[in-house]
Amino acid sequence: MMPLNRRQLLAGTAMAAATPLASPAQSTGAPKNIIIASANGLECCAKAMQMVKAGRDTLDAVVAGVNIVELDPKDNSVGYGGLPNEEGVVELDASVMHGPTRRAGSVAAIRGIKTPSNIAKLVMEQTDHVMLVGEGATRFAKAMGYKEEDLLTEESRLAWLVWKRMLKNPSGHSNWSDGLDAPPAKPGAKPSAALQRLFPNASADTLAWAEWMALHPTTGTINCLALNSKGEMSGCTTTSGLAWKIPGRVGDSPVIGAGLYVDQEVGGAGSTGRGEENIRVAGAHSIVELMRAGRSPQEAVMEVMKRIARNYDNDLARLAKFDINFYALRKDGVFAGGSLWSGTQRRDGSFTSQQFAVNDGGASRLENCVHLYERK
Ligand code: ASP
Repeated sequence: MMPLNRRQLLAGTAMAAATPLASPAQSTGAPKNIIIASANGLECCAKAMQMVKAGRDTLDAVVAGVNIVELDPKDNSVGYGGLPNEEGVVELDASVMHGPTRRAGSVAAIRGIKTPSNIAKLVMEQTDHVMLVGEGATRFAKAMGYKEEDLLTEESRLAWLVWKRMLKNPSGHSNWSDGLDAPPAKPGAKPSAALQRLFPNASADTLAWAEWMALHPTTGTINCLALNSKGEMSGCTTTSGLAWKIPGRVGDSPVIGAGLYVDQEVGGAGSTGRGEENIRVAGAHSIVELMRAGRSPQEAVMEVMKRIARNYDNDLARLAKFDINFYALRKDGVFAGGSLWSGTQRRDGSFTSQQFAVNDGGASRLENCVHLYERK
């Protein structure tokens, strides 16, 4: 191909600027104030809605919302009290995207900072970078005036100790195996029960919880997406990631395009659940692009879910080993939550259905996700 001269280049640039990126999403109505979040985000949605109604920026609103969950020691999947890595150290991932300015920021494997979403926002606002990781991210947070703190609670420390013991159990979870995406492994034996003797000061309930967590490393996270009546959108995803992970493991939450993506000309999307699966399908970006091509939020979410199932050749036995959810909010306020499975197993053996939080101006409520498979 002949190289272009300067004039042709300039003409090309002007043409590119005038050409719309793609056909518009098939949205119908005018934008309205809507906040959606993962199921742990009822309070988060209420806070974000209150701020959006007061005319605050959509990103300030979602970050203030997720801060509630990050600072909650009882939520073991996000921020302070999140379950730690293999070495007992809490490492957090977070990302933000600001629709009006089309900017993004993220931090990964950051230690010692309770609210990583604030640091992701600072990366976006105060640096020329998009992503900071590990020690650099912590140092940046400290330079910005954040205090480095121990993020372990007594409960999360106990759960980590129990997990370490459970490594001896053949059905215990180990990071040092072929991985879920490898060909199927043999099913293991039943876990042992009695830990009270070893941890006499822990309550039976805490120990039962810790044992469950050791064998079923938690996936949690909060994703929150906001739209205001001016059509401005922002999103945030924040997590302590997969419990007992190898230090330095980064999930999907801080990966722009996987755990979060916002293009307010179309909509936004986010995810919770096993990040490894999401990264392989660039979930949030794929959902936004499918909406841009005219799919509804629900169709877009389920299309990407089917790609995840396809990555396992629709092998239900292996797919049953994880959960993953997507959330999508279109620029006209139409939204959807979708999950791989209809529900997830509780410690007592019962199932709880997969849901997500919504606030459209009144009280926050939970709605059921559409799902790909029925968990029996
Ligand atoms: N997506 C998060 C991660 O893989 C975990 C989760 O949502 O539970 O790090």
